[in-house]
Amino acid sequence: MYAILIHGGAGVVRPEAMRGADLRRREAALRAALAAGEAVLAVGGAALDAAQAAVLVLEDDPGFNAGRGAVLTRDGRVELDAAVMDGRSGRAGAVAGVRRLKNPVLAARAVLEASPHVLLVGAGADAFGLAQGLAPAPPRWFRTAARVRQLAALRAADPAATALDHDGKHGTVGAVALDAHGGLAAATSTGGVANKLRGRVGDSPLIGAGTYADARVAVSCTGQGEAFIRAVAAHALAARLRYTGQDVEAAAAAVLAEIGAAGGDGGLIALDAQGSAALPFNTAGMYRGWLRAGEAAQIRIGP
Ligand code: ASP
Repeated sequence: MYAILIHGGAGVVRPEAMRGADLRRREAALRAALAAGEAVLAVGGAALDAAQAAVLVLEDDPGFNAGRGAVLTRDGRVELDAAVMDGRSGRAGAVAGVRRLKNPVLAARAVLEASPHVLLVGAGADAFGLAQGLAPAPPRWFRTAARVRQLAALRAADPAATALDHDGKHGTVGAVALDAHGGLAAATSTGGVANKLRGRVGDSPLIGAGTYADARVAVSCTGQGEAFIRAVAAHALAARLRYTGQDVEAAAAAVLAEIGAAGGDGGLIALDAQGSAALPFNTAGMYRGWLRAGEAAQIRIGP
């Protein structure tokens, strides 16, 4: 038995996103991410490798707010955050504010594998990734015309407002996987929120906030990062399983309800060691997909 869940961000979903070529392109990207994860799981590979493989596909797709095509800071830069966590070993790696590495999720994995640390930020994270032999990318690789337009429109409406996937483009990406040996893992990658201040870090690279995995459950969140940080959302979900005996669906719903009650928008994906899944969100939509061994991949965008 193995399973994988992915998300491509929660937020506004434009009606056009729900039909035609646009919809097919989105679905194809999510399917490709699931297939990349399944290719690892089907041959007995580790959950961590599967979650990473799925996120890698979405980082390279310019439609998602991660890697290429990420949202821009207030001063028009890209600052990328990512994290991975292996539930079996409890090891984790993360980077925040990286600007020069093509795939932040690989940098997070390198922090896990090749450093004594959990989180590296900014220039130090970039330098570490490059020293580990990760592929560099120039600013023009990340910066798409759509994101430049998005930032201009946002700033024209309100120079100080940040936006969660404001124009309906896909959002942050994440994956959680259960491998055939019972191991769980989570991976998340994001450009953050559009028009963010330089140096702002969201929930995604913070272990326990936007990303978490232990022996019981793996979690990846998407939404207004500040709300997920305050709720320590991903760990709160895991703690509910551990201490209250709630199942993954009830725990996920309770955490999201708490975030909603505090005014936060977003969603999350969670997968337990038995393969039970929860994919709740309190926004108009969340790009998401799931696949269990022997079953066809499922993709959803709207409610
Ligand atoms: N959670 C991400 C952040 O605040 C944004 C998103 O999920 O789209 O950085």
